[in-house]
Amino acid sequence: MEASQIASHKLSNTEIYKFGGASLQNPDRVKQVVEIIKNKGSKPLLVVVSAMGKMTNQLEQVIKAHINHNTAERSRQLNNFFQFHDAMVAALFSPSHTALFNDLHNLKTQLQWVFDEQFRSEDAIYDQLIVFGELFSSCIVSHALRDQIKNVHHLDVRSIVCTDDHYRDASVLWNETQERVNKHLIPLIANQLVVTQGFIGATLDNYSSSLGREGSDYTAALLGNLLDAQRVTVWKDVPGVLNADPRYFQNARLIDTLSYHDAVELTYYGATVLHPKTIKPLQNKGIPLTVRSFIDTHLPGTTIYNIDLKDYKPKTSYILKKGLMLVTAFKKDLEFISDEHISKIYHILWNLRVKVHLMQVSAISISFCCDTIIGLDAFLSTVSTFFTIKYNPSVQLLTIRNYQDSKSAQVIEGKTVLLEQRTRQTCQYVLSETSQ
Ligand code: ASP
Ligand code: MG
Repeated sequence: MEASQIASHKLSNTEIYKFGGASLQNPDRVKQVVEIIKNKGSKPLLVVVSAMGKMTNQLEQVIKAHINHNTAERSRQLNNFFQFHDAMVAALFSPSHTALFNDLHNLKTQLQWVFDEQFRSEDAIYDQLIVFGELFSSCIVSHALRDQIKNVHHLDVRSIVCTDDHYRDASVLWNETQERVNKHLIPLIANQLVVTQGFIGATLDNYSSSLGREGSDYTAALLGNLLDAQRVTVWKDVPGVLNADPRYFQNARLIDTLSYHDAVELTYYGATVLHPKTIKPLQNKGIPLTVRSFIDTHLPGTTIYNIDLKDYKPKTSYILKKGLMLVTAFKKDLEFISDEHISKIYHILWNLRVKVHLMQVSAISISFCCDTIIGLDAFLSTVSTFFTIKYNPSVQLLTIRNYQDSKSAQVIEGKTVLLEQRTRQTCQYVLSETSQ
């Protein structure tokens, strides 16, 4: 048997744990994460972490100041970033932990080197800097683990996850990444607990790249796919996937099992519990995804898997997306709306990077509910040659999956419904923002 075969043979029961920013936002939570990992049993485990707390947002402030050539502001924001990690480290480690302090010192220096370099675009600059949230986080977590468990390897995921150079929203190059997983990651996991970063990767010429905000669930899923993992677990500050956001709905209930299909639909309509791209890589290989609470580890959470549809009783779920716009475009000359008009409007919105969440076409008008159009004036002036526009600048989109008419009626009672649309499984209401 060749070495690689032995390695993959050993890995048939590999699991992946992913911890997000909220699970690493203070020293107590980091300790809890260490406890969870310590209790993993004997299975091979890959741990994927994202930046601690809100550190990606903090780095975005650093990047903004850097792009604006505002060095004073940049230092201030960078200090906030360093201070957060210094305080975390002070609470978790003794001041004589030289190995950790050396690693952090190196990371700080590498971060500051980026300021002296030239890049071809603001997005490229963004990615060279944004990676440090994950790098600091995984460095701290791996040292915290090393103090308790033997054989912990801190892996820079940029040596494994290969992407194109579409900075800030890079696409993974699957074949290259698979090769690196087989060659480097499988042998590592066979012998050690590996801690690595989510959300980031590198281009073929070794520039840092990122996979889109909140992208570390996606990293866990894509590595799960390439490793043929037995399970991916995303540890969250909620008990699992709920059938509604408890901030907006009373009686939100835990969904214990969910089909891949329903999970994709929920994330598509705006359920924020998982990154929308997470499900596909797992569904392709039939790998179960469990969403569990890192606060109450006794709870089983939600498992998303290849449920046999015969035994599946889908729960009604409610997803509310706020801060949207409802726009209606009327043809000026009472001409019927054609496919060409629809494609024209879509094209303009696509150019402005505005996402359309729902569309309805009538004889002489097109209505759509979309993200707030940032370049609204530009949009209005471009479309005004063909269309008269009416818009409502702040609406909410309520999506009910697996709806039942009586329950839907209760939920929208007393609210102003501006538009309604139904398919077999889903009904959607555009509600006036003031009606909640
Ligand atoms: N740290 C990144 C972000 O905040 C990625 C993630 O948390 O998933 O967007
Ligand atoms: Mg996060």
